[in-house]
Amino acid sequence: SVADLMRYADTAMYQAKGNGRKQAVFYEASMSALVEYKQSMQNQLHQALREQQFVVYFQPQVDKLGTIYGFEALIRWQHPERGLVTPNEFIPILESSGLIIPVSDWLIDYCCQQILDWQRSCFWQENWHIAINISPLQFYQEQFVETLADKISIAGLAGSCICIEITETVAIKNIAFTSARLAEIKALGMSVALDDFGTGYSSLSYLKDLPIDILKIDRCFINELSHKNKDKSIVEAIIAMAKVLELTVICEGVETDLQVNIASNCGSEYFQGYYYSRPVSAVKLVSSYSKVLT
Ligand code: C2E
Ligand code: CA
Ligand code: CA
Repeated sequence: SVADLMRYADTAMYQAKGNGRKQAVFYEASMSALVEYKQSMQNQLHQALREQQFVVYFQPQVDKLGTIYGFEALIRWQHPERGLVTPNEFIPILESSGLIIPVSDWLIDYCCQQILDWQRSCFWQENWHIAINISPLQFYQEQFVETLADKISIAGLAGSCICIEITETVAIKNIAFTSARLAEIKALGMSVALDDFGTGYSSLSYLKDLPIDILKIDRCFINELSHKNKDKSIVEAIIAMAKVLELTVICEGVETDLQVNIASNCGSEYFQGYYYSRPVSAVKLVSSYSKVLT
């Protein structure tokens, strides 16, 4: 029918846009399955937000000895049938549907409440932060900085409790805008981390121009660190450059003693990875660290 034809054409167009536009795509039945999957996920994600099925895990960021520097907040979806769903599976759908905005609003409020809880129970230390991942859609939203300011002011928290993580892809989309926006975020007292560094453009000029505090070296360089390989030279070079720019470096995804030692010999002071702790619930985090802290 005409209606079917239009629907299929729409599906093919959707695919072409998803592939980066400027191309012709012919409809195939498998595309419908994908569209239906995304539509169904989107409906379920709406429900997840309404029914508070999202949970936040925290992964410590530490120095070599394991002393806490901060935590990264990582969202999970406690699906009623599927169990815990990882963010890579649903963040792209939250992003493409715009749902990332309300979900992230919820997450920022949740993190503020968590800090207040930890302050009340004396677990929280003055110099810690919670790092929050900010998606492109959010970062470029008109109200973004105002929302951040409102949230910390309502919670009565100092801006320094929060670190904002953006990726290179977000940063380079519009350097002038990013630079101005980051300056506003920093004026709130928050710190800014550049996430997954090395996987994107890794341009020296924007590193110089952007007001960032922390550089997170992507896991892919840490994965295969050994004493005599190119990854080690790359990590060493990134850290040397970061030091010149007075940036703090966090090596992401450290899993072994060897990786920590090599990264540390390269000059890295902070680490995040399974070697120290997997992302865990707040309850689990407190129970494992309270022992260490007392
Ligand atoms: P990311 O920001 O790069 O976060 C680090 C990811 O690496 C996390 O995956 C973490 O569990 C994983 N990881 C940490 N240490 C290790 C390690 O030693 N080995 C290995 N193999 N993996 C390690 P996760 O939690 O699955 O999150 C994946 C991505 O989803 C995040 O990557 C981030 O881009 C996104 N994400 C997570 N939570 C949020 C959120 O609240 N908002 C937004 N916009 N994105 C989020
Ligand atoms: Ca991150
Ligand atoms: Ca990362």
